Amino acid sequence: MPELPEVETVSQGIKSKLLNQKIINVVVKRRDLRFRMDPNLEKKITNTKIISVDRRAKYILIHLDNNLTVIIHLGMSGRVSIEDLNSNEIEFKHTHLQIITNNKKKFKFIDPRRFGSILLCDSKKLNNHKLIKNLAPEPLSKLFTKNYLFDRLKGRKADIKSIIMNQSIVVGVGNIYASESLFTAQIRPSRQARFLSLVDCDMLVKSIKKVLKRSIKLGGSSINDHSLVDGNLGFFQREFQVYGKEGEFCSKKTCQSKILRIVIAQRSSFYCKKCQK
Ligand SMILES: [Zn+2]
Repeated sequence: MPELPEVETVSQGIKSKLLNQKIINVVVKRRDLRFRMDPNLEKKITNTKIISVDRRAKYILIHLDNNLTVIIHLGMSGRVSIEDLNSNEIEFKHTHLQIITNNKKKFKFIDPRRFGSILLCDSKKLNNHKLIKNLAPEPLSKLFTKNYLFDRLKGRKADIKSIIMNQSIVVGVGNIYASESLFTAQIRPSRQARFLSLVDCDMLVKSIKKVLKRSIKLGGSSINDHSLVDGNLGFFQREFQVYGKEGEFCSKKTCQSKILRIVIAQRSSFYCKKCQK
């Protein structure tokens, strides 16, 4: 499942190829995604211009000049491909939406499992949209600080890994980035959240930001279906320290310990028992 860096790289890719372009043709092949696509989507977005592209949590937001915003969620297996119109077209199975823009690009939304979604929203009401309005702070924003996290952990007996993956505390951090950030912060994933000190929270917040930024820079992690809009892959998986590394030696040279796997909240968690306390 794509996490924040993967969605961010797709959002940046859409922006770099389609910003300020006019949508000249729209074809919907399947509307029954996780949420049903607007029956008039084609009419509503044809002949509009893309005026900005950004992201909130794991939603890609494409803002149009008619006060509509297209909200794209990649779900489990969704991806976006943008090709030159006259290139040898790659025929993707499970292409549910196709958009042609006036700079001769073809945008495709591909989603074999159809847990993704494409929704339309009045741009002015976006912050009140049911999917957007209750979202917690962005991890890369100034709102996500050691004090914020420390306050949210008070009295919580849940393990810290589940807490940082909890979308009502901070958005976009999934299994991969939670495991990697906890290693960087030297905090064991199973530690009870309420026992983290302010110093621990400082380390963890800094680690989450650092790991996410590094992954975005490398195009995200291409271990599932993630690829960039031009079909290239992300490379952050090459820098994993613990995720998927059960039985391998810890990457800290002085450590000599092996990476362990435990299951927390039905998800595999990877850590070094010597480096993470
Ligand atoms: Zn270690």
